[in-house]
Amino acid sequence: MSDFSTLSVSELKEIQSDLKGIYATYQKQGLNLDMSRGKPSPLQLDLSNGMLDVIQSESNLKASDGADSRNYGGLDGIPEAKEFFAEILEVSPKEILIGGNSSLNLMHDTVMRAMIFGVQEGETPWGKIPKIKFLCPSPGYDRHFSVCELFNIEMVVVDMKDDGPDMDVVEKLVAEDESIKGIWCVPKYSNPDGITYSDEVVDRLAKMETKASDFRIFWDDAYTVHHLTEDPDQLKNILTACKKFGNPNRVFMFSSTSKITFAGSGIGVMASTEENLSYIKKLISFQTIGPDKLNQLRHVRFFKDKDNLKEHMKKHAEIIKPKFDMVLSKLEEELSDKNIAFWHEPNGGYFISLNTLDGCAKKVVSMAREAGVTLTGAGATFPYGKDPRDRNIRIAPTFPSLEELEKAMDILCLCVQITSVEKILE
Ligand code: PLP
Repeated sequence: MSDFSTLSVSELKEIQSDLKGIYATYQKQGLNLDMSRGKPSPLQLDLSNGMLDVIQSESNLKASDGADSRNYGGLDGIPEAKEFFAEILEVSPKEILIGGNSSLNLMHDTVMRAMIFGVQEGETPWGKIPKIKFLCPSPGYDRHFSVCELFNIEMVVVDMKDDGPDMDVVEKLVAEDESIKGIWCVPKYSNPDGITYSDEVVDRLAKMETKASDFRIFWDDAYTVHHLTEDPDQLKNILTACKKFGNPNRVFMFSSTSKITFAGSGIGVMASTEENLSYIKKLISFQTIGPDKLNQLRHVRFFKDKDNLKEHMKKHAEIIKPKFDMVLSKLEEELSDKNIAFWHEPNGGYFISLNTLDGCAKKVVSMAREAGVTLTGAGATFPYGKDPRDRNIRIAPTFPSLEELEKAMDILCLCVQITSVEKILE
């Protein structure tokens, strides 16, 4: 088939009738396929089962500083866990704070602390300012946007380019508007585009003049070791860049092992300057006596070092790469020559971001649902659930089996084609 935009009305109507016939047969099959959330598959989770045995058979449950992991204490994590994450995030162990089981929890609490107490000693709590705003490079991670909605933080959409957020827009906005207090970033294998920020973007974020002295970058490096190729993307270290440009306290980095070991039973981690962390620790000490040290010990003893972690992530890639390849090859086969969609080919992370013709995404998602395929809601990748061009669809290939994925992709591509023909015929 050729470029849909070059076809005559009668040709398009013929295609439409054929495709609708195929769609009707899928509808009758009573399918139930889910490509909606970025969850690891059971096979991926099995890779870490050995971790459950690690500390069971050990008589020594002391951390490297002698603290008994079974007992209270260790507000910011055991030393070896801090060292382990410091190596991954390329910061000093003193710049690491180990949290509980979720980095989203750390991000939420960091925003909440800023709302109630301010981001640093002496800064006005954001909640006392009549209106505050966050820049939201979009498409982005829906749960970041939900945190803003919860705290009534106005979200300002900034377009994502191939190397990160549109920095001309970001620089202009933060220089002019004191109510802009933060920006959400998923800098490596971004959710959902799979884009890694260029060195230039990292430097510009670290260097830019901000009207608000308490402006913060929320740097969610969730997919930092989640490569799909032998030639991984490289991300410049933002904390080092912020220090170099005289804005050391500007960034809060986050990550977790949710997509490394067990989602929901991993370790969340935060990194920032010692000054930022000491303020945060003071406040956290009212909230907890310390996070789960046994889980930290188990993780560190299971992985031992960064090289082992790398090998472990290769095993994840072996499981999920064929799924990404399947999605990409279906998109290529079914949609590439028709001029009705474009997508990114990520080198890592958890998602493939598909853009339809403008005004088609909602319709595609609802048609797919009626044929038994659940996708992330159209619009979810934008603040307030509103995709201004109604075109972005996030595909999460990791959880379903290859067979399920193949069928789900056939249906998705079919729905994209039917909806596009209808759009062109409008
Ligand atoms: N950040 C991003 C960008 C994600 O995609 C996800 C999960 O999909 C999370 C954070 C959640 O991480 P955690 O399980 O550590 O809360």
